[in-house]
Amino acid sequence: MSTSYIPPEFRWTNDNDACCRCKRCIKQCGWGALRWENRVVADQHKCVGCHRCEVFCPESCITVLPNPTYYRPNANWTLRHRKNVYRQAESGGVLLTGMGADQDFPVLFDSLFLDACQVTNPSIDPLREPMELRTYLGRKPEQVEVEVAADGRVSLKTQLAPNYQLAFPIIFSPMSYGSISLTAQKSLAMAAEELGILWNTGEGGLHEQVKPYAHCAIVQCASGRFGVNIEYLNSGAAVEIKIGQGAKPGIGGHLPGEKVTADVSTTRMIPIGSDAISPAPQHDIYSIEDLRQLIFALKEAVDYRKPVGVKIAAVHNVAAIASGIVRAGADYIYLDGVRGGTGAAPSVIRDNLGIPIEIAIAAVDQRLREEGIRNQASIIAAGSIRSSADMAKAIALGADVVAVGTAALLSLGCTLCQKCYTGRCSWGITTQDPELTRRIDPVWGAERVANLVQAWAAELEEMLGAMGVNAVESLRGSRERLRAVGLDDQTLAILGVKPAGVGA
Ligand code: SF4
Ligand code: SF4
Ligand code: SF4
Repeated sequence: MSTSYIPPEFRWTNDNDACCRCKRCIKQCGWGALRWENRVVADQHKCVGCHRCEVFCPESCITVLPNPTYYRPNANWTLRHRKNVYRQAESGGVLLTGMGADQDFPVLFDSLFLDACQVTNPSIDPLREPMELRTYLGRKPEQVEVEVAADGRVSLKTQLAPNYQLAFPIIFSPMSYGSISLTAQKSLAMAAEELGILWNTGEGGLHEQVKPYAHCAIVQCASGRFGVNIEYLNSGAAVEIKIGQGAKPGIGGHLPGEKVTADVSTTRMIPIGSDAISPAPQHDIYSIEDLRQLIFALKEAVDYRKPVGVKIAAVHNVAAIASGIVRAGADYIYLDGVRGGTGAAPSVIRDNLGIPIEIAIAAVDQRLREEGIRNQASIIAAGSIRSSADMAKAIALGADVVAVGTAALLSLGCTLCQKCYTGRCSWGITTQDPELTRRIDPVWGAERVANLVQAWAAELEEMLGAMGVNAVESLRGSRERLRAVGLDDQTLAILGVKPAGVGA
């Protein structure tokens, strides 16, 4: 018995009278949902709602809608729960998903409002006044000492730790070659170079074609150690130890053997066709002391010339963990919240483990301040930064920099269909099929991603100007510039934010 009990999620229709029979939609569908039988016919079960066919139909005659199938409503056994039971009864396996959480999680950014100048505190016009968005990633000194020579010349006595200068407080999230296509990764790398920010190799090594952009890359060292050698570590702008990921805290990664093509295998330094398994833990890290050893081994490897950071998922004890990481010598901590995206994760993990990024930023910033070690590491915040407003609020809560992943992929055409784990992405993003990957021209992709970052940067300047602040650094951790609506007292206390209506 092979009948599936799961109704199609989407209903594909076209206006056959308007259709010019170009068959472009059939070609555009990465999931093979469309075929030609004297007209375009859809296999509704295969349609994942990625909307590629709709966008490329020259007659705009395609409509893809959620299947209006009526199931008796049940507030407890939602359609989602029922479908998942059917799926598991059919497959007997863990349910996978791609991209970030789609549950109705509270988004605390939406309950926070930024301050604005009125009457006695003049705002700044960002079009006429200089605004400073430059941000330095890395350890800062507590104080600086200077030396005054006999001839009166002043020089810096304090030896500064390596910092990376970012033109904007935005970087791209780690996305490995393998999880995304090389054309998508190259788009991010080219955009990062043009913008003066950083992209991140993820755990997949460094492909020959993106080596020219390694000087503006964070090179990741994850549990699988794919592609990691001394040349790789030294080619990047910073090195990152990946412990966890917001979308799947506490579990590892798995790139199936069929996705390990010749090119992926060379880049990851593993055999063709072999499963690329990143174990859940780093097998040499079971304590903060172990982590310290790896941090300093990597610092040795790069001759103490580059920042070495640690990426963790935002979990219950995040503030204490972050404190340990800073004391272990990390130059930055990358916090990834529960709403963060990924190429593939078990939905049960994505939807139930971890905490929101807003809480994590505030808790970590507060803890590091209380311990007097806030200057010792930068905080990168990620996990669904959807707009310049989210970015400004994340910075006001205590982040130095935000990392964007999903937003960058949306710029490349992603429609959040959540089927990245199938490797059939019609938009050429999360696939290794050359027919599909060539849909992204990296020059075009870089331009779109760079446009997004520049637009957010311009909006950030507008918000800073409205707050009377001319440097993004002045907003960092300035929670007094935030007010909340509709949050309970405990959440307000953790965020360190007053309710709206309460003055200074
Ligand atoms: S792309 Fe549009 S016009 Fe072309 S065959 Fe498909 S439905 Fe018809
Ligand atoms: S291209 Fe996307 S929306 Fe169109 S039929 Fe295929 S899966 Fe469905
Ligand atoms: S990257 Fe592709 S497969 Fe993944 S959600 Fe976006 S459109 Fe869908």
